[in-house]
Amino acid sequence: MKIAFFNTKPYDRQSFNTANGTYQHEIVFFECHLSNETVSLAAGFAAVCIFINDYLNAEMLEILAKGGTKLIALRSAGFNHVDLATAANLGITIVRVPAYSPYAVAEHAVALVLSLNRKVHRAYNRVREGNFSIEGLLGFDLYGSTVGVVGTGRIGAIFAQIMRGFGCKLIGYDAYQNPACLAMGMTYVSMPELLASSDIISLHCPLTPDTRYLIDAVAIAKMKTGTMLINTSRGALIDTQAAIDGLKSGAIGYLGIDVYEQEADLFFEDLSNEVIQDDVFQRLLTFPNVIVTGHQAFFTSHALANIAETTLANIAEFETSGNCVNEVKLETAIATNSK
Ligand code: NAD
Repeated sequence: MKIAFFNTKPYDRQSFNTANGTYQHEIVFFECHLSNETVSLAAGFAAVCIFINDYLNAEMLEILAKGGTKLIALRSAGFNHVDLATAANLGITIVRVPAYSPYAVAEHAVALVLSLNRKVHRAYNRVREGNFSIEGLLGFDLYGSTVGVVGTGRIGAIFAQIMRGFGCKLIGYDAYQNPACLAMGMTYVSMPELLASSDIISLHCPLTPDTRYLIDAVAIAKMKTGTMLINTSRGALIDTQAAIDGLKSGAIGYLGIDVYEQEADLFFEDLSNEVIQDDVFQRLLTFPNVIVTGHQAFFTSHALANIAETTLANIAEFETSGNCVNEVKLETAIATNSK
């Protein structure tokens, strides 16, 4: 199939070229995002492949449909960046990669926990400058601490399993009780109880209208003083200004985020020679007890290979049968409130 790939980096091109040895699709890689300005590049391509920070609105979908595009292949699990209703009306099929490596994301969440607790980010800089003082680097034993997991699906369950290995007590909040989490000793509690009882809270639920600003000023007020908050899921689960206020008051003792609500303007680009205009983001970076990574939790060689393989298989399945097991159906998306 003839596929236009948007928003590609060298690592994407490498993993997709390797996987395409089996499929022999006709691939054209574009570096630019898919946007109102670039959508005309896709004219004549039956399939268009995009990433999480390519927002696909109704106007762009109409231009794609006119240009002959029948399939949008998402190189992601999430599909909150696509106007699914318009795609359905235009007869454009949307497919995704539902799971590529839950280990990658869960392990990155644990990396944030360990770095924040033992202040690895600060120790690294101190030692390089010949400062071997350990003043201010005091951590706490993870053993025996209470870890609250919000969203106990694929990633949340693996995060819980790793934290269980440290000897943490596990509590969880989810509408569905995951048997694997119950088997590892997790107790399901209400969200207010999770907020009040956790030493560490890690967010692993999707972003939906219900979960937007799940962690706001009201939620932060319910937390134990000095709670560690980790978000590797979606930025808008946290009201960033409320988190800043919580950090200033000490209510939040540590914040580790791989995602940020306004990340589309920042992440995945080298802005080191530019003045960053987002004052909220810049304020976050001033705290010694905050670590921000730029949406890299998924970024392992295993995950990239799985994303490439599943995406190309999705496209091949659609080409031969007109269907795909990983299709994002509008009804299902509405029923599950999207993610
Ligand atoms: P999943 O569907 O397996 O699990 C999500 C869980 O959240 C489900 O058990 C669901 O019942 C639960 N949930 C839904 N609404 C909830 C709510 N209001 N409160 C609590 N729980 C709720 O998904 P997954 O594969 O574990 O992925 C989780 C999230 O991780 C994704 O939605 C995505 O946003 C994020 N993610 C981030 C990266 C990254 O690189 N940072 C990569 C992949 C996925």
